[in-house]
Amino acid sequence: MKEQITFEQYNTDIELLTNKIKQSGKKYESVFGIPRGGYYVAIQLSGLLGIPVVNKPNKDTLIVDDICDTGVTMSTYKDYDTCAVYIRENTKDNVTYYGVVKETWLLFPDEKETGIEDHIRRILSYIGEDPNREGLVGTPDRIVRMWGEIMRGYDPAQKPKITTFSNDMESTDMVFDSGDYYSMCEHHMMPFFGKYYFAYVPKKDGRILGISKVARVVGYCAARLQLQERLARDVVKMLTDALDGQVEGMAIVMRGTHLCKTMRGVKNNGQMTVAHLSGVFKDDPQTRSEFYKLIEQSK
Ligand SMILES: [Zn+2]
Repeated sequence: MKEQITFEQYNTDIELLTNKIKQSGKKYESVFGIPRGGYYVAIQLSGLLGIPVVNKPNKDTLIVDDICDTGVTMSTYKDYDTCAVYIRENTKDNVTYYGVVKETWLLFPDEKETGIEDHIRRILSYIGEDPNREGLVGTPDRIVRMWGEIMRGYDPAQKPKITTFSNDMESTDMVFDSGDYYSMCEHHMMPFFGKYYFAYVPKKDGRILGISKVARVVGYCAARLQLQERLARDVVKMLTDALDGQVEGMAIVMRGTHLCKTMRGVKNNGQMTVAHLSGVFKDDPQTRSEFYKLIEQSK
């Protein structure tokens, strides 16, 4: 639950805090506001207590903050007397004085809630653009909607349902599939994409995968910030889990171009290949070489 604090209420609560400090009878020489939430409170307390604001605390300085949320920030000032306008029930002990106990998520008067689109507009300004020019006005909104699709891999509700069938034929033949994939690298949020080659060997008494689901699983796992190595592992894991681990082995090779390398003129061409193998693909050289042969043929 969110709660917007108005300036009026904020000032009232700061006065309440001031009264508690006065009642303690303790005299402070100065007040220090913890950046940045404490700045406004420090200025107000300075006026109400008649002491200066300092930008470096000494031993008779009172340390002030807007809220003591987790106590982590306050703990760095444990050698001083401290206060916060707002406090959580379970962080009361972290300060010398507090104003009001609040359990809600607070939005301070000088803090307007910004949508994600505002942050993208900030980024556009940062790179030197005018976010208000005609071609860019709709860009933040378009990016957010696009993320809904290309980052759907964070949404468990969109996880593909993987149908499996009982292995009536008791087949242990290698099943092979290949296709394209598109993902975003987690180091630069730039696309990397290429081809995947997947194979598995079913268990005689296990189940078999609806092979069309492999592409869906690759697509889903790729739809979040990834590393090519982890993407390969995520795919094998999701498909292995779909078979309750009842599989002789799985293998995936992913060959991709990383735009964060190609576009930046790093010496290599940004091509990278990773392989992740399990079970028979790992243990049996013959199965493995059969898989690599299928890759060569499918090119
Ligand atoms: Zn990268």
